[in-house]
Formats: sequence, structure tokens, C-alpha cells
Amino acid sequence: TQNDRSTTFTPSLFNSVEKLKQSPAKRNEETGVKRKRDAKDGRIPPLRFEKLHLTVSLLSEQTWCEKKVVYGFLKPEIKKKDKQRIEVKTGASIHLARELEVHDVVQINIQSHEDAVAVSLISMLNMIRWLETGQCVRELPVFGVVEGVYIKGVIDELSYNQKGELVLKDLKTRKQDSLPGDSQASGHRFQVGLYKLLFDALFRGEVKKEHVLEHLKLRAYQPLGAEVITHTANVGINVVTFGELLDAFLLTLSCSDLPCVDVLQLEYCHQGSSSIIGTVLVQFDESQLRAELRGYLEYWRGQREPKGVDIEEAWKCTSCAYKEICDWRKN
Ligand code: SF4
Repeated sequence: TQNDRSTTFTPSLFNSVEKLKQSPAKRNEETGVKRKRDAKDGRIPPLRFEKLHLTVSLLSEQTWCEKKVVYGFLKPEIKKKDKQRIEVKTGASIHLARELEVHDVVQINIQSHEDAVAVSLISMLNMIRWLETGQCVRELPVFGVVEGVYIKGVIDELSYNQKGELVLKDLKTRKQDSLPGDSQASGHRFQVGLYKLLFDALFRGEVKKEHVLEHLKLRAYQPLGAEVITHTANVGINVVTFGELLDAFLLTLSCSDLPCVDVLQLEYCHQGSSSIIGTVLVQFDESQLRAELRGYLEYWRGQREPKGVDIEEAWKCTSCAYKEICDWRKN
């Protein structure tokens, strides 16, 4: 099947590694900073919850309500229940079905954090080749350092239109058979803008080896696991350590003639009928996007407390999973 389809790789142990990093124990309820660390040396960690990186999804959720994002870390049991809502599950299945239309998904056993990142790099290498031949790719991982913070994300779809422009599309599934209001749509616009920023920076050679190693605290000398080495060889790269793979990856990007993203699109799909509600073009304004991002990063850098919704948007609280415990709402 790999003759005519791309392949995307999934680290089978990655989720458990993430969980280990995100234990909610001993955290300050207001700030998200670990109490023990604060009491000991009084320092503010570079990112709250001791996260080494942020994700595009997390930052996009922050556009809706910052307090809600924080409660997601402090009350994982409520978040888990919220994620089990039927519309969330339906949205995830529609995304998976679309991915499987163009890729085969292969599970790879990993043995280290370096292996987990290596799997993403292999997936990207595979998809870059696919894109270079003019094909559509889905679920393309992207990462980079923006405003001093390591951010990663997964682009829903990249393809070329009839004019030969590279189109980045993000699929949004909706319970209602209508386009979203501006509060929701602005978060979606922010999300696709951030994806473009990351994708373009990668292919302009702005992501350096030390960015990945230092921000994610990875070891260049770490030998890759056996399964990872096999799959690396399948994309034509013979390496032994994570650092060698990273070098080969960055070299491939620098030699690639892929263009920057030309068009940003949001596609809204109705969950009940699976029909397309509409497609919206998004204008890209880098300075506005960066200014907005800097505002959100102030929280993660420990420069201010989390904010809830503005009074004009209190309607957001009525459907919020944390409405019974939210101090912002109570106050
Ligand atoms: Fe945000 Fe309102 Fe939910 Fe509180 S109840 S987390 S302010 S949406």
C-alpha cells in the first residue's frame, strides 16, 4: 500500500510519556506553578506547569478562555469527562477518517523522548516527499520557536490549488449546521495563522538544531530505538543517534523547494450529515498574530495571572465544564 499512499507514524508510548510530565500534583491552584519548586527557590519556571513547549491547539483554546485552559491542567478529571462528549468524539473520528484517506498509519514502539520526536521527524520527511510531488498530505507535524517559545502543532491538510498555490486547510466539525460566530472564528483564524508561521519558518531554515535540543531538553547522542532506526532507513536515511537524524532532517528541509503557504482556509463540516457548511478564507497578518501571541505567552511566562472571559462574553460560561468551580465566574 505504500506505493501510492503516504505513511504517517505514531509513537505508541508517547501518550504515557506526556502523562508522566503532566502530573497535576502539588500545583498552586491559581498560577499552575509547582508549589514545591516555588517554596524551595522562589523561581518562576520558564513555562507554567513546567511545560517544555506549547501546542497550537492549547494556544487556540486560550483565545476562547484562558482560565478554562488552566482548569484543564488543574482538574484533569473534569477535562477527561468533557472530552468524552459525543461531539468531541465525532469530530475526532471525522479527522481520523480524512487522514486515513491519504495515509497509512503505522505504530512504532519507542524507548525514549528522543524516539518520540524522531517519529514525528520521520513522518514529516515522508510527507515532504509527498508534497514535493504535488500530492495532498494530512496531519503534518510542524514545530519551531516563536517569540522565544517552542511551539508544535499538526496541520490538518496541505495541498495545491489550480493556480499552483500551497493551501493550508483546517477542518472544523460543528454540531450546528451553521458557520461559527466571531468569538469562535477568531480562535480558528489565530490557529491557522500560527500553523503558517511554523511551516514557513521550518522551510526558510529558521529552525536550528539547538532549538530542538535545548528547548525540548533532548540528547543528540541518544541512540534511536530499533524500530525507529528501521523506519528511518525506510525513508532513505541511515542514522544511529537522534542528533544524526535531526541533522539529516534539517538538511532535507534546506534542500527542499517547497514554497511558503499561500492560502489559509477554514473548512466547516456538519457532524450530523458530514456535509460541508462552508469554507472561509483567512487573511494572514503576521504582526497582529505575533502581538496576540505575545499577550497569551505572558501567562505562560509567569508574568500575569490567568484571565477568564470578558463580561460581554459571559455566555461562554453556560456551556463550560468548569462553570461550577470557576472562581472567575463566581467573582
Ligand atoms: Fe472561562 Fe467561564 Fe469557563 Fe470560567 S466558567 S473557565 S470564565 S468559560
